Amino acid sequence: CGRGNSGKTIKVFKKRIHKKVSRKFNFLKKDFEMNYDEQNIFAKIIRGELPAEKIYEDEKVLAFMDIMPRSPGHFLVIPKASVRNILDIDNESLCAVIKVVKKLAVASKKAMNATGITIQQFSEADGGQEVFHLHFHIIPRYEGKPMDRPGQMVKDMSVLSLQANKIKAELGA
Ligand code: 5GP
Repeated sequence: CGRGNSGKTIKVFKKRIHKKVSRKFNFLKKDFEMNYDEQNIFAKIIRGELPAEKIYEDEKVLAFMDIMPRSPGHFLVIPKASVRNILDIDNESLCAVIKVVKKLAVASKKAMNATGITIQQFSEADGGQEVFHLHFHIIPRYEGKPMDRPGQMVKDMSVLSLQANKIKAELGA
């Protein structure tokens, strides 16, 4: 997410094509903005209207446990910006999110004694997305153990709290 040479190249590229594509780009952007539903579950969690077992929060990013975990320690990392999925997020917000994804992947692998990490991101219904606010799944994995079936609500919410505390403790270490 640093600027480096690619930042310079992008700047020159942007200047050259700006006039040509700006109208089209604005149209697409507007289209995506129109499709963002402010009442989606994750928007409500960000606004504090719904509870969540939080792991991490800063100005731009929030991470919390998934209530239907595919594996012990499964959580979600989301931008606070109102973006539907990877297709409409601006680069600045994406950089902020992906840095947290990396940081929390490392911390959760250690905290959960996992032997691997699966990261998933689904965009649009046909891509498997069900909640239309961008989110990355961070799924700790354990040797020889396949992921659980999707859509199974956790039986005991206190388990999520214990797991969140483990990951938070690792972050604080
Ligand atoms: P996706 O949109 O990538 O298919 O998945 C949405 C994810 O959000 C699922 O893994 C689901 O378990 C999770 N989820 C759905 N509703 C809630 C909720 O109210 N709270 C939390 N913490 N997770 C949720």
